Amino acid sequence: MPLSREAIAEGLRRIVGADAVVTEHRVLVESSVDNFRKLQNIFDVHTLPVPAAVVLPRDTAQVAEILRFAGEHGVNVIPRTGATATEGGLESAVPDSVIVDGSAMDRILSVDAYNMQATVQCGVPLQALEDRARELGLTTGHSPQSKPVAHLGGLVATRSIGQFSTLYGGIEDMVVGVEAVFPGGRVARIKNVPRRAAGPDIRHVVIGNEGALCFITEVTVKLFPYFPENDVFLGWTLKDMKTGFEVLREVMVNGYKPSVARVYDPGDAGIHFSHFAESDDCVLLFMAEGAAGIAKATAEGIQAIVDGHPECRQVESRYIETWFNDLCWGPDKITAEDERIRQTRNVNRTTEIAADWSSINEIYQAARQRIIDEVPDITMMGGHSSHSYINGTNMYFNYFFNVVDVGPEEETTKYYLPIIAIICEETLKRGGSIVHHHGIGKARAPWVKEEYGSSYFVLEGLKRQFDPDGIMNKGTIFPI
Ligand SMILES: Cc1cc2nc3c(=O)[nH]c(=O)nc-3n(C[C@H](O)[C@H](O)[C@H](O)COP(=O)(O)OP(=O)(O)OC[C@H]3O[C@@H](n4cnc5c(N)ncnc54)[C@H](O)[C@@H]3O)c2cc1C
Repeated sequence: MPLSREAIAEGLRRIVGADAVVTEHRVLVESSVDNFRKLQNIFDVHTLPVPAAVVLPRDTAQVAEILRFAGEHGVNVIPRTGATATEGGLESAVPDSVIVDGSAMDRILSVDAYNMQATVQCGVPLQALEDRARELGLTTGHSPQSKPVAHLGGLVATRSIGQFSTLYGGIEDMVVGVEAVFPGGRVARIKNVPRRAAGPDIRHVVIGNEGALCFITEVTVKLFPYFPENDVFLGWTLKDMKTGFEVLREVMVNGYKPSVARVYDPGDAGIHFSHFAESDDCVLLFMAEGAAGIAKATAEGIQAIVDGHPECRQVESRYIETWFNDLCWGPDKITAEDERIRQTRNVNRTTEIAADWSSINEIYQAARQRIIDEVPDITMMGGHSSHSYINGTNMYFNYFFNVVDVGPEEETTKYYLPIIAIICEETLKRGGSIVHHHGIGKARAPWVKEEYGSSYFVLEGLKRQFDPDGIMNKGTIFPI
C-alpha cells in the first residue's frame, strides 16, 4: 500500500525536522519541471504529477535515512542541487515523488593549495568555490555558462563541461574523489588519489548518473594555478563551417591546448558578433592561457595554423575578449530571458552532440537543413562547436522558434522534441553521441538504447545492481 502524500511528508519530517520539509503547493508545482518544460513555469500551466515534498537534508546521514525511507515505501526520489537542469532530469515522472534538495549541504570543506584539490558538499555553488580558489591564486578550471547557479553535486551528476574544457577537460577530468549515498542508505566514499589502476574506475558509476543511481553528497576536484594576466584572445571571420572545423582539427592534432576553441555558424555568430561579423560570416575564436611561456607558444602555434587558411580574416582581439567577459548566466539573465519568452512566445533552445572530425560537419549540415525544412515557425537555426578533442568535437545547436497555435505546455511536443529527434537521428546514423554535456535526462531517454547499442546491458546492469527497486529518478536516463 503506497504512503499518502501526508504520510510521506510526515516520515521526512521525522528524519530532518519540520523546517527542512517543504509542502507549499506552489513550490511543489514549480518543482515538477526544469528547463526542459520551462514554459510550464513561465506561463503557469502545469501538466506533470505534483511531487509530495521537497526535503533539504543537512548531512550525509540524513540523505542515507531519506533513501532508506524512500526504499521501504517505494517513493520515487529526485535528487536536486542547483536546479539548472535542461533535459528533464528534475521532472516528476510519477505522482508523489520526493525531491531531495542538497542545496543546504553548502560547506566548502577544504581548499588544499599544496595538493591542489578542494573538497565541498554537493550544494556548494561552483561560483562560491571558484571565488575561494581565486583568493589563493587558483582556479577550478571549470566554467560552464551556469557557473553562478549550478552546484557541485549537479555538475558532477550531469558530466558537465565548461568553457575552458579544451585545456582543463570536463568535470570527469577534474573529479578526484566523491562520496555518494546509494538506495538503502549505503554510503560509498571513493578516496582522493592522483590515479588508480585498481580495477575499473568506479568514480564513473557516480559521475553522470543524473540522480538515477545514487545521491552525490561530497565532491573533491582538482585546482590549477590562475594566470589571467597571460590570457591571449584570437579571432577570425570566415565563410564556411567546414573550414572552421578543419582549423579546430589542425589545432588539436598538433597538440595545442587553448582553453577556448570555438567556431560559430552565421546564425549563431549573428547573436554574439554582429558588431564586427557580416551576416554570412562564421566566427572562429581561441583563448590561450596558463603560465606565460605556455600561453605565448599556444597563441603563436594557433596563429601559424590559421595563417595557413588565407580565407580566415583576423579580427581585433578586443572583440573576443569583450565577448568572453560576458559569457556566464546568473539569475538576472535567466529572469530576463524568461520575461522575453513570456512577452514574445519566441523560445530559444539548445541541443549538444559530439562526433569525430570526419562526421561533424555532415551532422551539422544535415540536422540544420532538416530542422529548417521540417519544423514550423523556426526564426533562427544555428550553432557552434565549443569543445574540441584530438579525435573530434561537439556541436551545440542553438535555435529559436515561435510557439504558434498551441498552448505553451505543448511547446515540447510540437517543436522541441521533433527538433531533438532530428538531431539525434542525424547524429546516431553517423556514429556520434547524442549528448555532449547536458545529460540524457528525460528529453533524450527515448534514444538511450541506440546511443549505447550492444553495450546497453552494461548500463542497465548498473541500474539493476544499485537501484533494484527503481526508486531513483524514474524516467531519467532509463526510459519508463
Ligand atoms: C543558462 C544555463 C547555462 C548552462 N550552461 C552549461 C554549460 O556551459 N555546461 C554544462 O555542462 N551545462 C550547462 N547547463 C546545464 C546545467 O547547468 C548543468 O547540467 C549542471 O551541471 C546542473 O547542475 P545543477 O546543480 O543545477 O543540477 P540540477 O539541475 O539540480 O540537477 C541536474 C541533474 O543532476 C541530478 N542531481 C542533482 N544533484 C544531484 C546529486 N547531489 N546527486 C545525484 N544527482 C543529482 C538531478 O536529478 C538532475 O538529473 C546550463 C544550464 C543553464 C540553465
